Amino acid sequence: LWCTFELGAFLKDSGREKPVEFLPVSVAFQLLLQWAFMTLLCLAVQVSLYIEEAADAEHSSDAALLFFFVWVLPAGLGILPVLLHYGLQHLEDVQQLGEQLANFSVRDAGCTCCTVDHCDPPTGNQLLCDRELIFRTLKRWYRNSALDSGEKDHHLDRFDALVRERLSSSVLPLVGAGAPPARYRMALYLPLLTAMFPHYLHLGRVRLRGWGLVQWLMAYGAFAATALFFFWLCFFCCRWSVKKIRKAVPRWVVIPAVQSLVLLLPIAFWLPYRAVLQRTGSSLAAGLVLSCMWLILLCLSSTLQLLACWRSQGPLSQTAARCRAPPFFLRVGCTR
Ligand SMILES: [Zn+2]
Repeated sequence: LWCTFELGAFLKDSGREKPVEFLPVSVAFQLLLQWAFMTLLCLAVQVSLYIEEAADAEHSSDAALLFFFVWVLPAGLGILPVLLHYGLQHLEDVQQLGEQLANFSVRDAGCTCCTVDHCDPPTGNQLLCDRELIFRTLKRWYRNSALDSGEKDHHLDRFDALVRERLSSSVLPLVGAGAPPARYRMALYLPLLTAMFPHYLHLGRVRLRGWGLVQWLMAYGAFAATALFFFWLCFFCCRWSVKKIRKAVPRWVVIPAVQSLVLLLPIAFWLPYRAVLQRTGSSLAAGLVLSCMWLILLCLSSTLQLLACWRSQGPLSQTAARCRAPPFFLRVGCTR
């Protein structure tokens, strides 16, 4: 009740609009888990490269590979299921949001004080009823139009209409398909990759594995592409499973299946690059594979954006207009 009231308060007075950011709490937790996973992965890559550099040439690759999997496996088995669980939960909530807003009724909205019968559980003190306070405020807001209509609960109906129409049309495009905003994902992804860049430069300088600076910069590009592919895959697999098999398959089956996909497919995405470089030793051939990796990411990103716009807006004439709208900000009224 309070959340809807607060958002409704911002929308009440049109004209004095200021941007307000809309971020569901569960998205913040997902971002934290993604950060933990990526940090562990980047550390694993850096330490395994360090071990490879420090060990004797004959066994260095084996030692580094062993270390990498000993480190990455706990991240994959420990953090990833939690991330997927909360990701799936969030996407399910987002799917229900449209329906909840379309049928919103302030009379039926849940309120903590009413659920505990207006008695603070730890202390036993009596609590004021938030519902009564909010209803009184709504009555004050819509005093003039209530006098015109003559209906007793006109203020409640007006607020319901505000939530169903204006709040719904403002919030749903922002929540979109349920993915965390791109600039937050980039804020996690870019610092981690930037921190790894000097290490790859150093490896190019000391010519580890006999690779020069160009090969190590390409290896860096391949790692960055694979990490981006992993992010995209996590979201896509969760969304697909929520849309297609949520009701038919229990979550304890979905999570291990999605987990296997998001761990194995990025390896399959990266392996051709490594195989070509190892087999041919040619920077040109490896560079071509690397270009294909980034091209695939570009195509995936553009296709999904177009599909998302098409599905949410319908005809192409409307799509272009809506796609230009600021994606992460909600235009709302500023109230005191
Ligand atoms: Zn109450």
